[in-house]
Amino acid sequence: IYILGIESSCDETAASVVKNGRDVLSNIISSQISIHRKYGGVVPEIASRKHIEHIMPVIDAALEDAKVTLNRIDGVAVTYGPGLVGALLVGLSAAKALAWATGKPLLGVNHLEGHVFANFINDKNLEPPFLALVVSGGHTALLKVTGYNSFEMLGQTRDDAAGEAFDKIARVMGLPYPGGPEIEKLALEGNPKAIDFPRAMLDDPFQFSFSGMKSSVINYLHNEEQARRPVNRADVAASFQEAVTDVLVQKSVLAVKATGLKEIVLAGGVSANKTLQNKLAAAAKKAGARLVHPTKILCTDNAVMIACRGYYMYQAGVISPWDLNAVPALKLGYKS
Ligand code: ATP
Ligand code: MG
Ligand code: FE
Repeated sequence: IYILGIESSCDETAASVVKNGRDVLSNIISSQISIHRKYGGVVPEIASRKHIEHIMPVIDAALEDAKVTLNRIDGVAVTYGPGLVGALLVGLSAAKALAWATGKPLLGVNHLEGHVFANFINDKNLEPPFLALVVSGGHTALLKVTGYNSFEMLGQTRDDAAGEAFDKIARVMGLPYPGGPEIEKLALEGNPKAIDFPRAMLDDPFQFSFSGMKSSVINYLHNEEQARRPVNRADVAASFQEAVTDVLVQKSVLAVKATGLKEIVLAGGVSANKTLQNKLAAAAKKAGARLVHPTKILCTDNAVMIACRGYYMYQAGVISPWDLNAVPALKLGYKS
């Protein structure tokens, strides 16, 4: 079974062909990062326009790289939410047109479920049930993946997402967008114990809050500047990264213990963070579980994960209607 995956929810135009849900035949990503960098973040209207320019060349390249024709494809999987509405509509319209014209099923994919499914590419033996820590630019959640098509929300963030905190702090520090990789790089030369930023643990063990931590870092930078004290930026980056990952790891371990699940997977852009990977792998091991994470290119937005998710929908006969619309605030799982 060959699935064509299409992704355009934010600032990456991506297409991919995946065979039998786990073999990557092609992975094309056209990133707009350099365009949005001068504005310090994604400008929705510019993103939509760039998607329109790139979508067909990217899809053609994905088919060409995979050495398959459109007629050989068994289904077209596409992100229909969450994301920027104008951006989503470009990929969704292209997917509908291709699926309709070739008589293949349309598979509307939840982008966040896609992030989770990136792990099936990296670990060919991974099977539900397992726990997922979704840490992306717009989301932070702990999820029980009970089957290939069933997801149970354990808890999520009340305010900022982990990636959003990285991006906002980076912006205040004058680092380019996206901030996560920049903070990680800067943190390599810093002392993670230098500054004790607050770690909000909350009463609900599976809920997160990062806005207090974010404000505390920004206030620290502000106060030091006002007092004309030299700031060790690497120490700030390392200490913030330490605080965020402490919370993510502690809550994940609580979830491992509460659910008894033996595997935890990382999903979303922040999964690329080595400190998070290393700390979570060690803590999971101590709790009797194993950590799986995607390779770096599959942590951030891509269409491989969308094709992979689409394959399991195809197998289960979960086909989308032709009037499927973009859902900018599409939710993940359900509240248990
Ligand atoms: P969502 O998936 O929630 O819709 P998104 O698609 O914009 O949001 P992703 O592409 O999954 O987000 O991830 C991008 C985020 O990951 C950004 O916030 C970025 O700063 C962060 N990120 C990427 N690499 C790293 C890293 N090495 N360390 C920390 N954060 C990182
Ligand atoms: Mg992006
Ligand atoms: Fe994403």
